[in-house]
Amino acid sequence: MSGNNYTQCPRCRTFLTRKRAAAIAAAQASYGKVSAERYTADVLAAEAIPLEPDETLREDFEGWIDHSGVFEMYYGGTCSECSFKFSYNYKETAYKEEEYVD
Ligand SMILES: [Zn+2]
Repeated sequence: MSGNNYTQCPRCRTFLTRKRAAAIAAAQASYGKVSAERYTADVLAAEAIPLEPDETLREDFEGWIDHSGVFEMYYGGTCSECSFKFSYNYKETAYKEEEYVD
């Protein structure tokens, strides 16, 4: 069995959360130093930065049991927006012929 999927990247979520918080803080710090119109526009622009990233994390996965009874699983995730990558390999004997009971 295999498949692939696109989902939200956890690193991109952190980036957007921090980017939004920094933009809001910078806008709020300008209070009294810029015009009221500029202040309002900067706060609204900062608050409009989305917290939900696009689905840029490509996930590829496969899992199978071979004829000898060994189960293997592979997962790989790579984000097209940032540098996030993750991979995981798992292997375990799922069936042993010597444990076969009639
Ligand atoms: Zn990412």
